[in-house]
Amino acid sequence: MKIQPLGNTVLLRPEKLEEKTSSGFIMPENQDKPILIGTVEGVGKECDELLKKGLKVAYAKFSGSEIGEYILIGEPDILGIIEEEICQHEFSQLVTGILKCKKCGFEKDPMIR
Ligand SMILES: [Zn+2]
Repeated sequence: MKIQPLGNTVLLRPEKLEEKTSSGFIMPENQDKPILIGTVEGVGKECDELLKKGLKVAYAKFSGSEIGEYILIGEPDILGIIEEEICQHEFSQLVTGILKCKKCGFEKDPMIR
């Protein structure tokens, strides 16, 4: 099953809650309201350009809708991108006018905000 998120929704693959990640991201001790981590599998076109496939993001436990093994969630319910995964894009312009990051391959059309 392939799901393409629309608008400002994001498709996540949830991960197991960990006490602490390798970079020292501390999880809250309150197990009733944990913050969960998911990997971005797809983003709607209205989402922030920082959100892209493969990133790990934090989101609140009771937000979003489960669809099979995935969660479809509105961008405002995503609490943040796990810092270590953010690429400081270094764009170079292709002949087509598209800007492409030399480090991660992220592409951005300068004509579209
Ligand atoms: Zn990049």
